[in-house]
Amino acid sequence: MKLRCTLLRLSLTAVFTALPAATGFGLSYAQVIVIDPGHGGGDPGGTGLGLQEKNIVLDTSERFRELLEADTQDTTGGGSWTTHLTRDSDQFIELAARSAYANSLDADRFLSVHANAFGTASANGTETFSYSATGSGANLRNLIQEEMVTAWQLTDRGSKTGNFSVLRNTAMPAELHELGFVTNSVDAEKLGDADARQQAALAHLHGLQRHYGLAAHTPGPEVPPIAPAIPPPPSTIDVTVADKLGPVADAVIFLNGMEQGRTNSSGFFRIDELSAENFVVSAQTREHLGEEHAIQLRVGEVASVQFRLTSVPKVHEPMMAPEDEAPAEEAVSGTCSSSGGSGSSWAVALLVLLILRFRRTSQRS
Ligand SMILES: [Zn+2]
Repeated sequence: MKLRCTLLRLSLTAVFTALPAATGFGLSYAQVIVIDPGHGGGDPGGTGLGLQEKNIVLDTSERFRELLEADTQDTTGGGSWTTHLTRDSDQFIELAARSAYANSLDADRFLSVHANAFGTASANGTETFSYSATGSGANLRNLIQEEMVTAWQLTDRGSKTGNFSVLRNTAMPAELHELGFVTNSVDAEKLGDADARQQAALAHLHGLQRHYGLAAHTPGPEVPPIAPAIPPPPSTIDVTVADKLGPVADAVIFLNGMEQGRTNSSGFFRIDELSAENFVVSAQTREHLGEEHAIQLRVGEVASVQFRLTSVPKVHEPMMAPEDEAPAEEAVSGTCSSSGGSGSSWAVALLVLLILRFRRTSQRS
């Protein structure tokens, strides 16, 4: 995984090295980003409506840092960052120390996070400052302002120049953002809400990404794409049944003892839409001895099972009663006795004839 990340960074590097003229910036290495949560410790910053600027901006800055780290881990988009905070607790830091810290790190960008306060509750909205009206700091300022107005939908007070210590004394492009007014009820609703501060942190990330010529990208946990639930391809068994004379039609095919159908005139029958399992295929006819084959079917397989059936021996009546054949043979061989029978008939006929002649002679006399 580490190698993959490295490779992706290298390819990302290649892209931005190839397009320096188009973007004006380079991402040839992890950009060093300093986030500056304003105020802290004994300096609460602006206060109002139960809110303290120092707490709001520290929480937002920590969320921004987490997003930058997540974006670095996420190889599906975004950039690569090394992030530092000028403070990560409720402590007071001199203004000069903040810019000096960023300069000592040779940071690439400096982003300061503040919230406004004003004596009049009606003052409201979002604004962002840079030291110079042009250049990289102004570009970063404009994009942070744009993303924040989109995210929070507060009044757009615009992108401005400001002679602030942290902007003036930082050696790298820098911006200072004012989230909204703790003294305004509409703004305070956003400032006091953790989900809204998460949106603000994400708006800062998107602004920074776009500043570097990257598409705005919300990092997520690295989840491998889940394959859609496609059912495995069905399997098929092609059954052919033959005996020594050729294909056997009308053979009944069984699958695990369940009748499936009969073979056609070519002795063929297909069983399809099967899952990959073990099956026992059997073929039965009246004229053959039953036969069965076990088969282990694989996913999407078209398996063929061939039956070569043995015919049941043909049963005939003469063979069933061999003893009856003897009298039949005697009858055939007794042709002579039959003719002997007809000989005695002749004797009877002659006798009758003689009797009749004798009667006629006696009547004449
Ligand atoms: Zn402030």
